[in-house]
Amino acid sequence: MGNNMKISKNKLAPLLMVLFIFILSGCSNTHSKKVSTQTNSIHKHVPQRNPSPIKWKHIKGNPNLPILMYHSISPSTNTLRIPSDQFNQQMKWLKEKNYYTLTPREAARVIMKHEVPNRPFIWITLDDGYENNYRKAFPVIQKYKLHATINFITSFAKRKNHLTIGQAKKMIASGNINIESHTVTHQDLDILGGEQQTNEMVQSKKWLDKTFNQDTSVICYPAGRINDETASIAKRAGYTLGITTQPGLANINQGQFNLKRIRIVPKLSHSAFFKLIQTGK
Ligand SMILES: [Zn+2]
Repeated sequence: MGNNMKISKNKLAPLLMVLFIFILSGCSNTHSKKVSTQTNSIHKHVPQRNPSPIKWKHIKGNPNLPILMYHSISPSTNTLRIPSDQFNQQMKWLKEKNYYTLTPREAARVIMKHEVPNRPFIWITLDDGYENNYRKAFPVIQKYKLHATINFITSFAKRKNHLTIGQAKKMIASGNINIESHTVTHQDLDILGGEQQTNEMVQSKKWLDKTFNQDTSVICYPAGRINDETASIAKRAGYTLGITTQPGLANINQGQFNLKRIRIVPKLSHSAFFKLIQTGK
């Protein structure tokens, strides 16, 4: 025992010396430097999506959820394309009105659990996985600290003008983007047999789960077309929500695999944009 005491006393002396030198060399300075580096690294690694923390509350009745539907962010030659300045403007409007932009999991929470954020909320989706989503939409989404979901056609991963796997991974890593399923080959599901529909939904989910190391939870139906079998196949394939192109606000009354969306067309005014979000029309 006496031996042990001796050893610890011997160890203590150099320790005290180090501490003394540390104090002399101005530890407060070193300390504050350390703290500020830590804060910086936290800001760098944790995606800062929304400025204030969200509180969720349970509400009576079924909440309406506006789900925006975009496709290509490019000069408009048809109604599916939105020029980047208009997309930028709309994201700015949402930010100004303090909208909270949901992830797919949060959208499911609203629809299935009747829990809503304590701010106006919306789900932004972009279909088909165009390459311009990376160049034109992603920087804007990041700039305003919003969140969006890109519905990806898995067999288009190496197709021209479509997102590469690398671009998709980069966006997912930012915390501002989710990638969900828009099937394997983008065929209208309503004219496919049960087995083919199963393939489109199961294989795309498997591919996305593996490629992006995630549990893909949303199926976005090509052209919004579905038949009587589609919802039950989507459920069996392991999805939580299915989104269509039928116009309106999403509500669980429609069924969790048959949710309406709001198609964004070019040249919407501020009032037309917010009327769409509030009424679905
Ligand atoms: Zn599509």
